[in-house]
Amino acid sequence: MKLSMRFFPLLLTILFLAVLFNSCSSDNSADPIVDIDGSDDDNNDDDSNDDETDDTDYDINGILELFEGTDLSYEVSGTNVIFTTTDLPNHKSPYWATDNALYEAYNGTNSSFNLNPNRISEQNIVFTIPLNPSAATSNAATPLGPMGISRNGVVFYNQYAGPNNQALTNEINSFDQWLGHPQNAGQYHYHIEPTFLTEEFGATAFLGLLSDGFPVYGPMEDGMAVTNDDLDDFHGHTGATAEFPNGIYHYHITSEDPYLNGNGFYGTPGNVSQ
Ligand SMILES: [Zn+2]
Ligand SMILES: [Zn+2]
Repeated sequence: MKLSMRFFPLLLTILFLAVLFNSCSSDNSADPIVDIDGSDDDNNDDDSNDDETDDTDYDINGILELFEGTDLSYEVSGTNVIFTTTDLPNHKSPYWATDNALYEAYNGTNSSFNLNPNRISEQNIVFTIPLNPSAATSNAATPLGPMGISRNGVVFYNQYAGPNNQALTNEINSFDQWLGHPQNAGQYHYHIEPTFLTEEFGATAFLGLLSDGFPVYGPMEDGMAVTNDDLDDFHGHTGATAEFPNGIYHYHITSEDPYLNGNGFYGTPGNVSQ
């Protein structure tokens, strides 16, 4: 008894150190991304003259590791992330050359499917995307061509088939079994839900980024299908996600037009070159 009392303070010290060490290491493991700047204790004051991240609380560094594949690479450069993608899908399609291992004849459910004359070809597309996205004061329209990048490196297109807001009505019939297709330069893309990714990662999953740096999520949330009515004009809303438990503005892919983006970018788009 006497002996254990002598060691008691030592034990306490060890326990204290263990707790301290533990909390430090769990801060660093950063599984959920909670990188809201301006820690809990100085949130309350006027932040108009705050530190460097005055314009935004969002930080997407933590989701970069969710991008995968040999056809895609990225590097952080200052306040941006630079993605370079070949844009080649990591799944089967009737749009591959017939001698490609990933070639597969159409086996989807659209009885009006109509193979377009284009075939998948390797691209070299570079996105420069802000790591700290923030709401824009004036919202730019999305371009025709790449407006974002999905987790497997395939680019996202908007809800139009061509200039002057041509609807996708006819194009939809050329979407393959994973709902993508190539345009006339062989650039493969998704206008609507990339079902290969939602099958792999789930219907609520993080699917990629638009070029303004805001994340894109699947068609379900909290056990419910997200509808256009749940979203703002840009086709997103602010709320907690698995990767951003403290909340972030994010887009959702829904089953109805405009599918992925509505009336332009919520934030300020970075640069796309191809
Ligand atoms: Zn298209
Ligand atoms: Zn949401």
